[in-house]
Order: sequence, then C-alpha cells, then structure tokens
Amino acid sequence: MGEIQALRGTRDILPDEVGYWQLVEARAREILDRSAYREIRTPIFEQTELFARGIGEATDVVGKEMYSFPDRKGRSITLRPENTAGVVRALIEQKLYASGGVQRLWYIGPMFRYERPQAGRQRQFHQLGLEAIGSADPRADAEAIAIATEILQSLGLVQLRLEINSVGNIEDRQGYRQALVEYLTPYKDELDPDSQDRLTRNPLRILDSKDKRTSEIAADAPSILDYLGPESQGHFEMVQQLLSSLNISYKLNPRLVRGLDYYTHTAFEIISDDLGAQATVCGGGRYDGLVAELSGPQTPAVGWAMGLERLIVLLQQLQTSPRMASLDFYLVSRGEKAQMQSLKLASYLRKAGFAVELDLSGSAFKKQFARADRSGAVACLILGEAEAENERVQLKWMASGEQSELSQADLLSDKLRDQIDAIKASGTTSSE
Ligand code: ATP
Ligand code: MG
Repeated sequence: MGEIQALRGTRDILPDEVGYWQLVEARAREILDRSAYREIRTPIFEQTELFARGIGEATDVVGKEMYSFPDRKGRSITLRPENTAGVVRALIEQKLYASGGVQRLWYIGPMFRYERPQAGRQRQFHQLGLEAIGSADPRADAEAIAIATEILQSLGLVQLRLEINSVGNIEDRQGYRQALVEYLTPYKDELDPDSQDRLTRNPLRILDSKDKRTSEIAADAPSILDYLGPESQGHFEMVQQLLSSLNISYKLNPRLVRGLDYYTHTAFEIISDDLGAQATVCGGGRYDGLVAELSGPQTPAVGWAMGLERLIVLLQQLQTSPRMASLDFYLVSRGEKAQMQSLKLASYLRKAGFAVELDLSGSAFKKQFARADRSGAVACLILGEAEAENERVQLKWMASGEQSELSQADLLSDKLRDQIDAIKASGTTSSE
C-alpha cells in the first residue's frame, strides 16, 4: 500500500519551524493587547452564501478559489478563504455592536483557497488579521496601519514598503469604473483572458493583473484619485497626514485595488522586495459596506490581514532563530525500581517548574548518557537502583562534567535553581 502524502498546497509546520510561528503570535498578541484589541475565534467553515455575499461573486476568491462542498444534507458549505466575513457574521449574529463604540477584534488561523501552489502561495495558509468595526474616523485607518507596522517592526522586519490608495465610496467608484472601462475597451483583445473576462464583471481588478502586456496597458489607465469626491478626498488626505505624524512612510499607488468588493476609501498593502513574485505580506483597508451587505446595521469598518507563511519566510531570511525552551534536566534511569521512580521524579520536578526530559529507552546507561549530551539539558540526573532505594540521585553538570550525589528533595533547593539559571543565562549548557 502506498504512503499517504499531505494534499497539494498544504504543508506540515515541523517543530524546528514552529518557534517562528510562536514568536509571531506572541509579539502580535502583546501589541494587540496593548492596543485594546480582543481575540475572536470563528468557525473554519461557514455557509457558502456568507462568502458569496460578503466577498462578492465577481472576485477571484469567490469565483474560482473557494473550497465549497455539499454537506450530508446537501447544504453548500465553504472552508473560509478569509476571516473578515466570518468576524462580521459573528458581530451581527451575536449583536456585538449593541454595546456601542468600536469593536476592535483580531484573529489568527488557517484559511483555504484553491490556487496554484507556488512559493508564498498555498491552498491552506494562515492569516493574522484585525478588524476595527464601528468607526468612520480616519484615525481608525491610521491606527490599524500603525499596528500592522508595529507588529512587523517588533519582529525585526524593517525592509518593508507601505503602499496606500483610496478606492473612494460607491459613487466615486461608479464614475471611475466607467472611465476605466472606456479606456480599456479599445485594448480588449490585448488583455490577458482573465482580464478580458473582468472587463464587464470586475474591471478594477484588471489594474492588479500580473500579466505583462495587461499591466503595461493598465499603467496608463486613468487614476482613481482623480475621481474621488470631496468627502473621499478629505478622508484620504487625513489618513496621509496621520501616517506622516506617526513617522510611517508610504507611497501612493493609484493602481492598488483590493480584490474584494466591500472595500471603500483606504486600501493598503505592505510589501517586501525579498519575497519574489508573492511580495505582499499584509493587505487591508476600509470596508464601510460589508456589515450592511450582510444584513447588519450600516457600520463603517477597517481591517487588514497578514499572510503568515510569507512573513515567516522573511523572518527565516533574517535568521533571527527564536530561542526554543531549553531543558533543565535530562533524566536517565536503569533497573526496575529506578525506572518506576523516574516518572514520579520527572513529574515532581516539572510541577516545581523545571523542564525535564525523561529517557524511556531502558537501554544501557552509556546510550542514555549520549542522548543526554545531545539534549541540550543543563544537567543529567542519574537514577540507578542504589539511588532509587534511598530516594537519592546523581547530578551531572553537562558543561563541566562534574558530578555529585544528593537527595531528591534537595533538587528543589534555591541554590540549585540559581545555579541552573546562571548556566542558562551564560549560554554554556553543553560540553561542546
Ligand atoms: P494575492 O494578490 O497574493 O493573491 P490577495 O489579494 O488574494 O493576495 P488577501 O485576500 O488580501 O490577499 O489576503 C491577505 C494576505 O494573505 C496576502 O497579502 C498574503 O500575504 C496572504 N495570502 C493570500 N492568499 C494566500 C495564499 N494562497 N497563500 C499564502 N498566503 C496568502
Ligand atoms: Mg489572491
């Protein structure tokens, strides 16, 4: 029988890599806590209609990237391709808006899109995101961008560019859409097939095509910034002033349009030059139309999502390998009574706050010592039959090789704990 492999576009995050994920989550959690954001966890699957309405039928995500399937009763279910629609569904269903004010929510978790897998693009990937729901104030846009920037900076990712644009309100966009279609129609035959298709369904998305000829054509297209009404213009100018006041540098990119229909006003991306073709680490913007679109009260909102796989590739390039929790003790034992007692001793030490790895092999001491050497533990504890008989233990410091015998109870002495902490702080745990 053949070996079973992970599905195409999915991957295992192995223990050696997981430290990066924990680091990202820890930093993000800290910054989001300080920014008065609260975590929300919504289901991984939802009714397909949520995404069809909330993201928009004309988008790539809904049109061709969703993992949708009928459940056993024939209802259409979809694995979430993003989390904004789910968060807004929860907000409406649980009436989170009833308490008034701004709901500041964040999430982290897997998302699913049926795309062609390549570097930085998977079928199951992970996003960290936030949503500030209930404020139309440009400060909400700038605050959301500032938090994204702060998270990235706290991870040492400073070589990133922020690009911003405004896609205006619905009226502005109608005017612009018409001008864009008028401009593009004469080039119709030269556009890539996807863009030809979008000309009627979602022409703004053409600006964002990766096709060479299409992007040449798009480069001379009218700019949406020329189609903003006074309200949209005022909002966008204020966002820019606020970013400048925070010393956050940005570049205007009038071709930056998000792929999702509910976006209004501010759109932004944070981009890296070190990621090849899949360069956007964070994308977001304002979506004043979404809550109402999903049958909630008209409520303005702004948010973003970061692609964690791309972010972690950048962290790995920096080689800021996160410190892994290190062992205090590696516990070896041999003989029936000693082996029985070893588990109890390990558990006793763990309850006292030590990190302990218990050797379960029952093999000769020599082999167990070799594993202790490789474990990175500060000290090896040796439990033979004689020690077990008297509730004593041999302690061998891995760095110096010094060994002494003590009672098991003495392992909890303050003096020993201080010694271990000092060795860990000096970073010389092993003899190598
Ligand atoms: P792209 O243009 O790369 O397809 P998008 O506009 O579809 O991005 P969003 O829906 O805004 O992306 O998602 C926000 C972020 O999530 C992206 O900037 C990216 O970092 C990440 N992301 C999106 N799709 C994938 C994927 N298939 N694999 C890995 N990361 C992804
Ligand atoms: Mg995409």
